[in-house]
Amino acid sequence: MESLFCRNDREIMEELGLDKPFQARIIMQNLVKGTADFNAMTSLPKAMRERLSSEYGSALSGCVIRKEEADSTVKLAVRFPDGAIIECVRLSDGSGRYTACLSSQVGCAMGCAFCRTGTMGLIRNLTAGEIVEQFALLGMLGERISHIVFMGMGEALANFTSAMDAIQELHREDGFGISMRKMTISTCGLVPGIRRLTELDIPVRLAVSLVSADDAVRSRIMRINRAYPLSELKAALMTFQHHQDKRLTLEYCMLGGVNTSRESAEELASFCRGLDALVNLIPWNPVPELGFTAPSENEIRGFERELKALRVNYTIRRSKGQGISGACGQLATETRSPCKNKP
Ligand code: SF4
Repeated sequence: MESLFCRNDREIMEELGLDKPFQARIIMQNLVKGTADFNAMTSLPKAMRERLSSEYGSALSGCVIRKEEADSTVKLAVRFPDGAIIECVRLSDGSGRYTACLSSQVGCAMGCAFCRTGTMGLIRNLTAGEIVEQFALLGMLGERISHIVFMGMGEALANFTSAMDAIQELHREDGFGISMRKMTISTCGLVPGIRRLTELDIPVRLAVSLVSADDAVRSRIMRINRAYPLSELKAALMTFQHHQDKRLTLEYCMLGGVNTSRESAEELASFCRGLDALVNLIPWNPVPELGFTAPSENEIRGFERELKALRVNYTIRRSKGQGISGACGQLATETRSPCKNKP
């Protein structure tokens, strides 16, 4: 069965062999409330519940095959009917705010050298329904999730239509009702995607994985920079900001000995000029096979001092979930575990 999310009543009726459109709505209301077990959908006729349960097992197309927890971070590995496996993460800020980090693709074609997902290559795009299902599954863990970041596996702007359809579905008032202002799309700098997002004029937030503000260094680490160098990226961000008037986040993954020098700080300050941007420093999470090193505490503190002196607006994020490879740039799938049905 394909995901039931992002489909109209008639399509759901046909998929499940239902009699009436309101039965499709009952099933979707149950899914939004966290019930995927047809047998527990008591507003449906008993015979229908039993048939659906025996034919499909669950109202979700994806099944959780692994759940890992560390530091209040929970990571789920989800397998879809074609065997594709993705990961999604629920993050907590420790004060009761929960954020869902969703994947938009199985693997990723962008090949950023510091990212574990990049080593997989692109296996396929996720459908809008499969993106929404991750949110539903993370919600079934039991806490109310108020924020969404598209920072899991894949480049969301390279799967533009599905990502936008998922955003609309997650925003629907009679569905999950998540404010678009609480959704953040992350991109490695796919300029045509940023332009399309600008044209859509929806109030989602944008985060750009910058990593370096030096074209030579960035092109070495992020292949996207060879196609869309920093000048083009900045022009696209200026236009986005002109339309949206919202602060951007520039994710700056700190790689030991690569992008933490005084010159790097000056280049970063220069890139930020003219943008209303918050730089998010993320000390690299070690992934052994990728050949980088995490920055030392001295490097981190020195870089912070430079940014302060240059009056760059920054924050530093110590990634959570490192112990379960659920931190930034660490998602990749290799599991072959059996389906556990429920998170
Ligand atoms: S950082 Fe993002 S865009 Fe780059 S390879 Fe990883 S998932 Fe893809």
